[in-house]
Amino acid sequence: MARVYNFSAGPATLPVEVLKKAQADLLDWQGCGMSVMEMSHRGDEFVSIAEKATQDLRTLLNVPDGYSVLFLQGGAAGQFAGVPLNLMGESQKADYVITGSWGKKAVKEAGKFGDAQVAASSAVDGKFTDIAPRADWQLRDDAAYVHYTPNETIEGIEYPDVPDTGSVPLVADWSSAFLSKPIDVSRYGVIYAGAQKNAGPAGMTMVIVRDDLMGKPQSGVPMVLDYKQQADADSMLNTPSCFAWYMCGLTFEWILNNGGLEGMAERNAKKAKTLYDAIDGSDFYSNPVAPGARSRMNVPFLLADDSLNKSFLAKAEEAGLSTLKGHRSVGGMRASIYNAMPQEGVDALVDFMRAFEKDNG
Ligand code: PMP
Repeated sequence: MARVYNFSAGPATLPVEVLKKAQADLLDWQGCGMSVMEMSHRGDEFVSIAEKATQDLRTLLNVPDGYSVLFLQGGAAGQFAGVPLNLMGESQKADYVITGSWGKKAVKEAGKFGDAQVAASSAVDGKFTDIAPRADWQLRDDAAYVHYTPNETIEGIEYPDVPDTGSVPLVADWSSAFLSKPIDVSRYGVIYAGAQKNAGPAGMTMVIVRDDLMGKPQSGVPMVLDYKQQADADSMLNTPSCFAWYMCGLTFEWILNNGGLEGMAERNAKKAKTLYDAIDGSDFYSNPVAPGARSRMNVPFLLADDSLNKSFLAKAEEAGLSTLKGHRSVGGMRASIYNAMPQEGVDALVDFMRAFEKDNG
């Protein structure tokens, strides 16, 4: 078996144990004579898979009573619309904090449905290299919620802690750092995340919503984006993304069996330190992000001589280190080191970087 170390930002590497379990179950799930892809979402078998996944996610995140956990389609980008459609309420106002490309997209989409204003932005000359500190947020008293992006996937910027917004519901696009460390769900009004980084394959979006924020959507909200209707239907208002839900369930089991979110946090901190130490310890590589705002999940790095980028990428592929090309808006490289990336993968990357520097520095 020739698996590479896959540093893709998403869809991203999955735990081998999860893939093997899916492979073993593929033709015949637990003796029922069919695969999960082929079974009715209303049957006892799939309902048991969905219920277990939902319960395991609640356990992992310690989701308090009074919050619903939804498994929806449409990606995190779907929730760029879902959030304002469900939450903007009578004021029709929402505040957005922008620390990178995904936050920019979120506020643009929300603007279709009401008055979505930028409450703070950390952009300098159009580039993001830091968070926007809470003290700089210009929040409106009558905004229905405040939205931020705890981890910006493209720029590699992460909030080290949860900003305090008092009684105004805090909404977060946790997509690229979901399940990477314990979080206090009670600090949030809504948490949403696409699965395809830390939680499973593409095609599944998790939404964790405080119950009192549901049930007052804008008129005309599509039923599949209506949190209350989906919660009442156990996320099965229409046919769910069954196989992706099942794969997320296997991934949740894997996390539970590997120390839960504390275990993930420890692994992730160690991997990130290994990589940032290597970057900081060399003049050949650099990372532009302010040290206190560096992402543990997505690590962009530049080569001092960017004419070497092509050769770096080609040689990395040869060495079994895949998908390291940075996003075109940032340039250079980006290593996404989500939960399923083992320490060995990061060690192999760092060894490769040192050897490449020796040959080309
Ligand atoms: N938000 C963030 C932080 C992301 O990283 C992504 C995807 N890379 C999205 C939103 C969009 O997610 P999706 O493609 O699932 O709609």
